[in-house]
Amino acid sequence: MAEAKGAPKLYAQIISSAPGSFLAKQFGLPQPEKLRRYQPGEAALPGPLLLGGNGRLIDPLRTLLSDYPAADPADSTFGALVFDATGITDAASLEQLFTFFQPAIRNLAPSGRVVVLGTTPEEAASVDERIAQRALEGFTRSLAKELRRGATAQLVYVSPKASTGLSGAESTLRFLLSAKSAFVDGQVIRIGEGDATAPASWDKPLAGKVAVVTGAARGIGATIAEVLARDGATVVAADVPAAGEALAQTANKVGGTALALDVTASDAGDKLAAHLLERHGGADIIVHNAGITRDKLLANMDDAKWNAVIGVNLIAPQKITDVLVEKGALKEGGRVVDVSSIAGIAGNRGQTNYGASKAGVIGLVQATAPVLAQKNITINAVAPGFIETAMTAAIPLATREGGRLMSSLQQGGETVDVAETVAWFASPASSAVTGQVVRVCGQSMLGA
Ligand code: NAD
Repeated sequence: MAEAKGAPKLYAQIISSAPGSFLAKQFGLPQPEKLRRYQPGEAALPGPLLLGGNGRLIDPLRTLLSDYPAADPADSTFGALVFDATGITDAASLEQLFTFFQPAIRNLAPSGRVVVLGTTPEEAASVDERIAQRALEGFTRSLAKELRRGATAQLVYVSPKASTGLSGAESTLRFLLSAKSAFVDGQVIRIGEGDATAPASWDKPLAGKVAVVTGAARGIGATIAEVLARDGATVVAADVPAAGEALAQTANKVGGTALALDVTASDAGDKLAAHLLERHGGADIIVHNAGITRDKLLANMDDAKWNAVIGVNLIAPQKITDVLVEKGALKEGGRVVDVSSIAGIAGNRGQTNYGASKAGVIGLVQATAPVLAQKNITINAVAPGFIETAMTAAIPLATREGGRLMSSLQQGGETVDVAETVAWFASPASSAVTGQVVRVCGQSMLGA
């Protein structure tokens, strides 16, 4: 049974009551902040943006971020602090981070944003620069852990070969500097050298695109379908035949079509390819969201549980993408988004099968990105942490509360947080983002 939205979340409920809040303050217990989430028409940030640094990106950043109200260092509240750290070419210059952030950080608004931009360390021009750029990761991840009240910090590495206009980074910066990235925290994202074309409208970046979402009948998949449709896509919602009514509901809600498809069927790829080519002339986006758990300690596991999980979560996404690409049912310039999990990064007791499948998805993304790049197709993965769905509602209460609290944002995420991240990857403007795995986990301590 799905846990209803807004259903009792024991700890959050106690802590938000007057006596609970008082006790929490006395004992230093975590007090989860209500995260600011995207609402059409609302300002992207909770306050003005302060830009700093003196690297190669500062001028293009000034132009790119000119839509955001600009802050002065003397202001008392900042909606975002953005720092161009590409000018840091040796360890001593890391002090620039201290000089910029130390006086400003206290004044970051609730749900505020920190974004540090650096040069991809592997592409740095010297040993000293590589060391200094690699150091940015420890700085950003630690700062993310210090921030309170729903504020987040991320690091964006930009290839030194990227053209000076910085178009390849725009979709990423817009995502990070908005309420759409509410549950993305402490992440490192690499932007390649390619240029990107901005969509006609940043409110409808997927206009004219066709997107397939597997496992769309409920949970995260249903919300991905909604968000992609909100962004302008025509959605093909796919799920197992038994999902019937729930799948039809998703399809109706998003004005798309429902497709009964067991992703593990031997003809799943062919069936999907035929559907897409006949009805839509091909698809632009495929989101491999269908996933299952069959938890048991390895000592007690049977082969059916093992094979079911590897089959749905890992083999199906690989095979279906291969068939769609081979048959031209995923168009040139297409987007593949896979769904991994923090269990694939940290490992999880009772989940050897699931952890293997979700780590395999990371391998799939990394191995396939260079191959698909020849057709200008990107492939990326989201790795959700604790998200409030039927899957996590099945976890025993104490572990569930623990899962919610053991992150920098001190709460579970909503399905929309994963969906917004998928939509960013799916955007035509994200053409320079490929081979990336971005956790949507509120900077969970698991596998950190
Ligand atoms: P869910 O169980 O609520 O929904 C999964 C959907 O996939 C269901 O509608 C199901 O019918 C469908 N599905 C299962 N097997 C299928 C098959 N063979 N063919 C087609 N569809 C199939 O799960 P959820 O919580 O929404 O998870 C969605 C994805 O996110 C999964 O890949 C899951 O592993 C991943 N994930 C979830 C969380 C979380 O906290 N909920 C965390 C990490 C990763």
